Amino acid sequence: MPAIRLFGLPTDINSSFERGAAGGPAAIRAALWSDRGNMASELGGEIGTDIAFTDDGDLPLAERTVEDDAAIRRHVAMLCEDGEVPLALGGDHAVSFPLVEAAATCFGPLHILHIDAHPDLYADFEGNPRSHASPFARICEAGHAARLVQVGIRTLTKHCRDQADRFGVEIVPMAGFTPDAVPVLDGPLYISIDLDGIDPSEAPGVAHPEPGGLTVREVLAVLHKQTAPIVGADIVEHHPGRDVGGVTAILGAKLVREVAALIDRNGPYKT
Ligand code: MN
Ligand code: MN
Repeated sequence: MPAIRLFGLPTDINSSFERGAAGGPAAIRAALWSDRGNMASELGGEIGTDIAFTDDGDLPLAERTVEDDAAIRRHVAMLCEDGEVPLALGGDHAVSFPLVEAAATCFGPLHILHIDAHPDLYADFEGNPRSHASPFARICEAGHAARLVQVGIRTLTKHCRDQADRFGVEIVPMAGFTPDAVPVLDGPLYISIDLDGIDPSEAPGVAHPEPGGLTVREVLAVLHKQTAPIVGADIVEHHPGRDVGGVTAILGAKLVREVAALIDRNGPYKT
């Protein structure tokens, strides 16, 4: 089974409204390794014992987009070459572009499951093409997505609807949502989880809370039904300064365990 390598990307320089997501990796890591919880996943395995899992700490970043993108791509390329699976903690969602780009360079175009309140498809946001509101526009333009399925979207502007049509993005409607409406994707699969996809009642510690979101239980059902080999994943946008009692950090830690267990269960991608 593939070894999973957790690393943090403590950057929020591409946040459009309020910075704070740079503190996400440290908060989620503290919750993950706290004795308040254990290492069990709902799929049965425990990370670090049944499931090969290493926490490599944070990648040193310069807080300059061009250099940081290059550092992220180099790190992911190294893990892919070694047959290890990157599991990244954001940081704002802009980090998904270099993460996906490096994985797609290694494996070819990816099937992407994207959980988020926002489609992140802006051509640019307030003049910044690398905004955290734009990574999936960059990914689609570059041809890195064989298929992009978005779940949790409830903020669709006309511009982003046009972008979704242009790129052939599949948006699962939130009205009447059930996990059954989400397809089982093929591999190589990449999973990107923006914590604001989950309802603010369960994940308040984000910069852009949006009511009417997914429950944690629905997200777990959407994840657990995926059977394809996973070549990379990220959990982004935790803003500790807006958290309440650490519940969003604890949720981030649970999602680390569940995604790691899923990577393990679904096995390595064979080209
Ligand atoms: Mn996002
Ligand atoms: Mn979002």
